[in-house]
Amino acid sequence: MPVTKIAAPLKSDENCDILIVGGGIAGLTTAREIKRHEPNLKVLVIEAKNRVGGRTNTIELKTAGNTTDKFDLGGQWVGITQTYILNTLKELNLETYEQYTDGKKWLQMGHDKPWTYEGSLPTATDFYNQYSAFEMADIMRAYPIIKKLVDSVDLKNPMNTPNAKQLDALTVEEWARQNGQTRFFQDLCEGSTMVAYGVRAMSMSMLYYLYYAKAAGSVDNLLETTDTGAQRFRVKGGTLQISQKLAHAIGNENVRLNRALLQLHMNESAGTVTAVIQDLTNLKNVS
Ligand SMILES: Cc1cc2nc3c(=O)[nH]c(=O)nc-3n(C[C@H](O)[C@H](O)[C@H](O)COP(=O)(O)OP(=O)(O)OC[C@H]3O[C@@H](n4cnc5c(N)ncnc54)[C@H](O)[C@@H]3O)c2cc1C
Repeated sequence: MPVTKIAAPLKSDENCDILIVGGGIAGLTTAREIKRHEPNLKVLVIEAKNRVGGRTNTIELKTAGNTTDKFDLGGQWVGITQTYILNTLKELNLETYEQYTDGKKWLQMGHDKPWTYEGSLPTATDFYNQYSAFEMADIMRAYPIIKKLVDSVDLKNPMNTPNAKQLDALTVEEWARQNGQTRFFQDLCEGSTMVAYGVRAMSMSMLYYLYYAKAAGSVDNLLETTDTGAQRFRVKGGTLQISQKLAHAIGNENVRLNRALLQLHMNESAGTVTAVIQDLTNLKNVS
């Protein structure tokens, strides 16, 4: 087992058996699993920020009536198809609650004027009431094509998907232009990409879009807040608790905050790896 020597620049050298870089959910879960199976190994997690959680973060904000409540800024929803995180929540004694979706929603897509609907997502009737037969035909033609493409993705090796290279060379925006005639269709592709993936349609490969949708079960699953939708539940008290509880489980002393990995030096004959780590304690504005 290679030994990792941490050349923590400003303080002492330290050795460990396994060094995990990143105190987000993935790094901390990995550390916890290793400790579970090999409790005698010295496992250290280094995290560049001054907190664990990575792309999950929960902050407290003032709410009505001079009270405060917790708000998630990053990852916050889970769905019933996401069994790994649901199991983790259960193990950590974290409760979930259904995403609140009652009320009027506003949507602007394809036209300059926004309109409203009441369900968790607009129904086919909502769309028919707002869009022309030509616009609806655009969607009705393209939707089965997307569905078929999603089904065709090889999840284990996405490059084995039929036409993988061509799909990977196209952005979602380019694909939408080639396969739809109306601004409504372009806006729908842009909106669903922004909402579900957090990036513009022009910034993502079509193959990745399909791959991610297949991993979630379908495009609908990525958007929905009901049934098998990925936005169905939220975590009571916020998702930052996942990482905080994982850090507690592996021992907070084994999670070093404000430490960024800069370089790794491998010495194959000695069987060691030396990590060069920057101490960021005094760096301002890291959140
Ligand atoms: C706004 C937003 C909303 C989201 N919504 C959802 C959602 O609703 N549901 C869902 O399932 N997912 C959602 N996600 C995605 C989810 O948050 C991430 O997939 C998940 O948190 C990633 O965890 P991770 O541990 O793999 O990576 P990260 O959380 O990114 O953790 C990686 C950590 O490594 C640290 N690091 C990187 N390089 C170094 C280095 N050299 N040295 C030391 N440390 C380093 C980083 O600082 C970071 O803390 C959302 C993400 C965002 C941003």
